[in-house]
Amino acid sequence: MAEKTSGEKLKEKLLAKRENGWESLTEAEKKKILKFSDGYIDFLNNGKTERECVKEAKKIAEENGFKPLEKFKKLKAGDKVYYINRNKNIILAVIGKEKMENGINVVGAHLDSPRLDLKPNPLYEDTGFAYLKTQYYGGIKKYQWVTLPLAIHGVIALRDGSVVEVKIGDEEDDLTFLITDLLPHMARRQMEKKAPEVIEGEALNLLIGSIPYKDDKVSEKVKLNVMKILNDKYGIVESDFLSAELEIVPAMKAKSLGFDKSMVAGYGQDDKVCSYASLRAICEIENPKKTAVCLLVDKEEIGSVGNTGMESLAFETFLGEVLALVGEDKTTNILHRVYSKSKMLSADVDGAFDPIYASVADKRNASFFGQGVGMNKYTGGRGKGGANDANAEFVAELRKLFEDNGVRYQISELGKVDEGGGGTIAYILANKGMDVIDCGTPVLSMHSPYEATSKYDVYMSYLAYKVFMK
Ligand code: MN
Ligand code: MN
Repeated sequence: MAEKTSGEKLKEKLLAKRENGWESLTEAEKKKILKFSDGYIDFLNNGKTERECVKEAKKIAEENGFKPLEKFKKLKAGDKVYYINRNKNIILAVIGKEKMENGINVVGAHLDSPRLDLKPNPLYEDTGFAYLKTQYYGGIKKYQWVTLPLAIHGVIALRDGSVVEVKIGDEEDDLTFLITDLLPHMARRQMEKKAPEVIEGEALNLLIGSIPYKDDKVSEKVKLNVMKILNDKYGIVESDFLSAELEIVPAMKAKSLGFDKSMVAGYGQDDKVCSYASLRAICEIENPKKTAVCLLVDKEEIGSVGNTGMESLAFETFLGEVLALVGEDKTTNILHRVYSKSKMLSADVDGAFDPIYASVADKRNASFFGQGVGMNKYTGGRGKGGANDANAEFVAELRKLFEDNGVRYQISELGKVDEGGGGTIAYILANKGMDVIDCGTPVLSMHSPYEATSKYDVYMSYLAYKVFMK
């Protein structure tokens, strides 16, 4: 081989380079990555709603030795504990050898994803069709939710205190649901509209039936016939929709994407990808120095509000209980002390560079498929409005940690400066005193009914969370 020129040597020494991670993998490493994604694809297919994901997470946690908080009278180093808040939010912790007062390591992701929720009075009939009315949840492009197979997942709470679980449209191969769109032949006016108005919010009505109940004496026969089917199947009457949480989600199953199967296509990867990766990571943490916490919250997509979102006191309640059980609750101001010394990876997805829409990205500061877990030093838009801006010292610490442990990462921002922006749960815990950075898997078609990730980056996210909590 020819001797390197001085310029080549200097370049190697001084300039940063970006590489596609797949290229330097051994066959064994590649196998490991693909296998990890099989589990992830199962997780996506078993959990399309936050409630289903909490159930899955609980199952996985228990298989790995975690026990519910209420089972403990005392907690000691090495103990594995979990806490479920209203079936929508789960927190897992492995107690560390050091005092929590010296700081804990938190990885926080969210389980909710953009979708359509049923309205409180959803059922109606029009011109021989029965429909369910919806209201969208989170930031969606409404036009993406028509003419694709949809499923209904969720719960109906009854007055007697019982809860009926619903999961239909994708489990059973013989039926699905649909929101219709106008045929192109008659869509001249529709096609002239701006994208947010092409499909109006009030047009997102789910088609659920068309056979009338046989009785000339009654009106709304199609609605009645559907209600009879629902009554036979679930034992509910129409007014039970008043106390239901039914979510309309894409019926498509998650799958490997591409001839080379290098990617995952599926609904809800924002942010089930980081949820799964952090869950798997904490399940492998044994006897950490600092207490490790995996936080899987709800309501991120609508501003982290409510008693299952990150802004609630649920996490403090959990921390307070744990501090009491490890015997650290005697110190004044203990929660604030813990926060001020703690570190967090806000495990949320990153918008990946899409060559088809290259014009909205700053290519020098974008995250790319196959280049590892994506860190956003800051989020927000324009003048960093509303951003958590991670401290340089913390970023340096993570660079060393990841590089020393073979975790491929990239540090990027979401789109061009004036193009838009976004937020995560990062600022909420940063406001309380923790060092926080956004650190998650890059995603294509984010917030759409069928998102894409790179299996390489999914695995690197898991590795990042694991070395961070170790
Ligand atoms: Mn997210
Ligand atoms: Mn999101």
